[in-house]
Amino acid sequence: MPKDPETITQATRIPRPEHSISRADISDGALKVLYALKKAGFEGYLVGGGVRDLLLGREPKDFDVVTDAEPEQVKRLFRSARLIGRRFRLAHVRFGPEIIEVATLRGTVEDSDDQDRVSVNGRIVRDNAYGTSIEEDVWRRDFSVNCLYYDIRDFSVLDFTGGMADLEAGILRIIGDPVRRYREDPVRMLRAVRFAAKLGFRLGDETAAAIPECASTLAEIPPARLYEEVLKMFLGGAAAQSFELLNHYDLFKYLFVESADLFSKDPLAPAAQLVLQAMNNTDQRIQEDKPVTPSFLFAALLWPAVQKDAIAHESRGLTSIQAIDAAGMDVLGRQISQVSVPRRFSLAAREIWSLQARLEQRRGKRAIQLLGRPRFRAAYDFLLLRAESGEDVAEMAEWWTKFQEMDDAGRRLALAGTGQRRRRRRGRRRQPQAQT
Ligand code: ATP
Ligand code: MG
Repeated sequence: MPKDPETITQATRIPRPEHSISRADISDGALKVLYALKKAGFEGYLVGGGVRDLLLGREPKDFDVVTDAEPEQVKRLFRSARLIGRRFRLAHVRFGPEIIEVATLRGTVEDSDDQDRVSVNGRIVRDNAYGTSIEEDVWRRDFSVNCLYYDIRDFSVLDFTGGMADLEAGILRIIGDPVRRYREDPVRMLRAVRFAAKLGFRLGDETAAAIPECASTLAEIPPARLYEEVLKMFLGGAAAQSFELLNHYDLFKYLFVESADLFSKDPLAPAAQLVLQAMNNTDQRIQEDKPVTPSFLFAALLWPAVQKDAIAHESRGLTSIQAIDAAGMDVLGRQISQVSVPRRFSLAAREIWSLQARLEQRRGKRAIQLLGRPRFRAAYDFLLLRAESGEDVAEMAEWWTKFQEMDDAGRRLALAGTGQRRRRRRGRRRQPQAQT
């Protein structure tokens, strides 16, 4: 196994009085799993983001457990356990809405003839007090702060990779040789950005330095997996910071290449501001426990490309609505070869774009009908976003703000003449469009 003197330290056991994890903060489900494993004579550790977040005083999203019990043995312990995929040796144990993922440590029965039992310290660990298997589990982890094991037997924390020190220093450090670990799984570069953004950490020097060399391998990742990661990055409460770090490490182009191209020409253009603003708003809404939808985010992320395409279509003679509809289809069609966008979200994004062109027409019955469209609210929010980011639509946005606030009589007054006059004059002279 490769050694990396910077990331690997002596394995340490931090006893209960010297760390801050309290059982009161661990979910009932996770505790039940850990205690049942212990009672049956197995090892049981809480690991990953749960341990990291508890040590940071944050509320964990979920709890993952590793054990030396075989999946079949786990299944016998819990009636609600379901085995997931042979290769991953996983069981899902369900307690009401909570699912605890229980992974079996490698290096038990079937791998026992594996000669490669060298620890992360380079030591042979066959008669190591912690056993071989857990030290091998370290190589299935990405960052040192994600690689701390809370041991239910004595409530201590096991640290094989200097995760405790990194946690205190606010450093995200990949375990082992960064180039090798990124090549193994390029998504780890995106995870680095996501965790750094969410936790307010910085990347370790080598962890950061290897990114330019490995970045292009992200192109090999299936669009569906990148989609999952994009959602975690942008709907996890730290979207704006993730977006800035993606730009900083020049990774954004592996997710949204057309927008990235446009930003790189002018990073201060309204288009880039719009995306940043959308991210800020999303973070704000999550902070306030308001619902957020991926469709709005995708609408914002792809808007620069859609606008560019729409302008080209208009110059070929399409109306503004036709142009934006065609552009939306084209851009999404190309986008899904990079990051997939489920149909329900792409339909909604197209509707938001299409309504941008329709909102320009503030006349007669149509304006009233637009108010009733299912996605009017999202489209209006999107219009505000465009105005905020410096697009020349502030007057139009204000018109729609006022129009919504009016009662029926006020609306009739606001529209008075617009629809009628137009009808009367049709064929004689084109009514000059309201300034937009
Ligand atoms: P979150 O708060 O997003 O749940 P997490 O650290 O728990 O963060 P998960 O994706 O739930 O992240 O994964 C759980 C653990 O599994 C991680 O902490 C890490 O140790 C390991 N892991 C997950 N994905 C990878 C990966 N791609 N490469 C290496 N280790 C990984
Ligand atoms: Mg997790």
